Amino acid sequence: MIATSTKKHNFSAGPAILPQSVFEEAAQAILDFNAHGLSILEISHRSKDFEAVMAETEALVREIGSIGERYAVLFLTGGASTQFFMAPMNFLKEGEKAAYVETGTWSSNAIKEARPFGDIEVVASSKERNFTFIPKDFDVPKNAAYLHLTSNNTIYGTQYQKYPASEMPLICDMSSDMFSRPFDIERFAMIYAGAQKNIGPAGVTLVIVRKDWMGRSGRAIPTMLNYKTHADKGSMYNTPPVFPIFVMMLTLRWIKATGGLAAINRRNVEKAKILYDEIDANPCFKGTVEKEDRSLMNVCFLPAKSEFEAPFLEMSAAAGITGIKGHRSAGGFRASIYNALGKESVQVLVEVMRAFAVKHG
Ligand SMILES: *Cc1c(COP(=O)(O)O)cnc(C)c1O
Repeated sequence: MIATSTKKHNFSAGPAILPQSVFEEAAQAILDFNAHGLSILEISHRSKDFEAVMAETEALVREIGSIGERYAVLFLTGGASTQFFMAPMNFLKEGEKAAYVETGTWSSNAIKEARPFGDIEVVASSKERNFTFIPKDFDVPKNAAYLHLTSNNTIYGTQYQKYPASEMPLICDMSSDMFSRPFDIERFAMIYAGAQKNIGPAGVTLVIVRKDWMGRSGRAIPTMLNYKTHADKGSMYNTPPVFPIFVMMLTLRWIKATGGLAAINRRNVEKAKILYDEIDANPCFKGTVEKEDRSLMNVCFLPAKSEFEAPFLEMSAAAGITGIKGHRSAGGFRASIYNALGKESVQVLVEVMRAFAVKHG
């Protein structure tokens, strides 16, 4: 059905790689969904078949993440960027305080977008060292409603290996490490994730929100921006992103079938170790972030000399590697090694790094 012989090793940061089996099942469903003679792209979102997709997707999120009935699971649009303002709009009372940790571009955006809705206090920042570490020792004001974190910093390659010990309810942007490792939902008032980094295609945003937090702010909220609207209507108040949700369902089935979050995490730890070990050993490259804060998802590194950059990208491309150019604000290289990227692809990258060192080291 699909020519896979030219398939690349895709290290792109997002939209990003999904399992090959998911691509094939999604392609089949575009041609003929459930053998009804209709494409998934042309069926009603009110049809029995799509209702089943919604139900299964939610059930898989709950099963994989151990999410109980205390939480609503929502499938929204507008990306993680819409959650930057939707969360404070729904949760913060007039003039109430919220605490934010600034660990990169996405958390800076979250802070900026929250400011109109409350008293936003940045309790820690790693900005002065170009976001190369995760701040750990900071106080959270007792009167804050929540503490907002970005679990994984897609651009700079840092990740919380442990969440702050504070009792404060957490709101977390997990866009780039959602379902890459186990987490304890009870710590969180809300989690959100644009799907396109690790759990599906662009177009759907997964939001998990504590039911008793909905309506917390008491302010007038436009219908579409109110979590309660979507919770009450099973994310079907308006037309949901049918195809992205379907592909997310396929991806979640794959996560479950490959052993769930504990198994996914073991593979992610193994893949990251292979790559970081090479970065640390290879004279042509150097890591950019504090070792203890290194991301298991986005591995950022620099060439030892700037003139290495172009030839390394060229050599990588010749090996079928794509997407490793670093973000413009971090420079160098970034290899995103999300759930669906196989260990074999990481090994190909490591081989190219070694071959590069033989030639240039
Ligand atoms: C990509 C990304 C975003 C932005 O997501 P959109 O869905 O494009 O709005 C936000 N936060 C993090 C951590 C990201 O990686």
